[in-house]
Amino acid sequence: MQRDEILHWLKETDEARLEELWARADAVRKERVGDEVHLRGLIEIGNYCVRQCAYCGINACSQGITRYRMATEEILACAREAHRLGYGSVVMQAGEDPGFKAETIAAIVREIKTTTPLAVTLSLGEREDDELRLWKEAGADRYLLRFETSDPALYDHIHPSLPGTLSDRMAQLERMRDMGYEIGTGVMVGIPGQTWDILAQDIDTFRDYDMDMIGIGPFLPSPRTPLGGPDAASHMAPEGLQVPNDELTTLKAVALTRLVCPQSNIPSTTALATLDPKAGRELGLSRGANVVMPNVTPPEYRVLYEIYPGKACVHETAQVCHGCMEARIRSIGRVMGKGPGGRKAS
Ligand code: SAH
Repeated sequence: MQRDEILHWLKETDEARLEELWARADAVRKERVGDEVHLRGLIEIGNYCVRQCAYCGINACSQGITRYRMATEEILACAREAHRLGYGSVVMQAGEDPGFKAETIAAIVREIKTTTPLAVTLSLGEREDDELRLWKEAGADRYLLRFETSDPALYDHIHPSLPGTLSDRMAQLERMRDMGYEIGTGVMVGIPGQTWDILAQDIDTFRDYDMDMIGIGPFLPSPRTPLGGPDAASHMAPEGLQVPNDELTTLKAVALTRLVCPQSNIPSTTALATLDPKAGRELGLSRGANVVMPNVTPPEYRVLYEIYPGKACVHETAQVCHGCMEARIRSIGRVMGKGPGGRKAS
């Protein structure tokens, strides 16, 4: 599928034609990655952050949030809970926080890898190569780092570099792949300033880089941030060019990503479930996705990991999230994934 065809589908509004897109995406999903839905236990290990991402509610400038950093023993307890619930992997995610020392993370990874069969995914932002290497040697399997947008000007605008450095997430993704990580990335749909062309290019980029995992969710404005505050309108692309941050467009992006990256692991994201608590998860899974990331963070911390307001399942326990997810998966005739659920070989 060429870029202009991706673009055309993104803008498609005819329901009958869209049924064709959903059916194609679901057929490719079934044929290439099967009916298993892989569950990744998400541990939001801390919300300190040094970055000033204009979309993110826990960015360094965000006022009025209580900051936390989970202790090693607390993180390990979450990993054990994920294993007990039958998940094949855990994702440790945080703001970009040098307060999490590389050695501390390495020790946690080592402990999880020597005491459980879990695959370990890290999502800790932009870190030094020697730290990434240390974590790989400790046993980390995967790293999630969304490139957020393939448009350099929009990237600079929403994700400013730290003083004296140049943020280059694509380069980090490539270096991590060379280190032996499975690499995951993604974008938000409808970020202010995102045009249809840019979103089509994002999807093309997933294919160009042959990404192993691709997370796509709607942009959900946080009033604590420049892109969600009173000036949000001033960041929008001109009328007709701006991509809306709605469910339909997100589902089109998920379906198209499945078509261009047939073997990738694609989650049905929490942001999509937040936008549509009733059916978002199931719709994502029915239109290309094959992964979900149930939250295993203790409720007292997950409320503080407020990258956007109203996050789905924010007051639930890991056990409740598990039961809910299992029911949703079964309701659409899919099966719970077994084992670590790594990227299928081409
Ligand atoms: N600090 C890590 C993890 C960030 S949170 C990192 O930078 O990689 C994970 C993802 O949540 C981000 O990459 C971003 O795409 C998404 N996100 C952040 N703020 C959001 C918002 N307001 N609406 C929707 N998604 C958001």
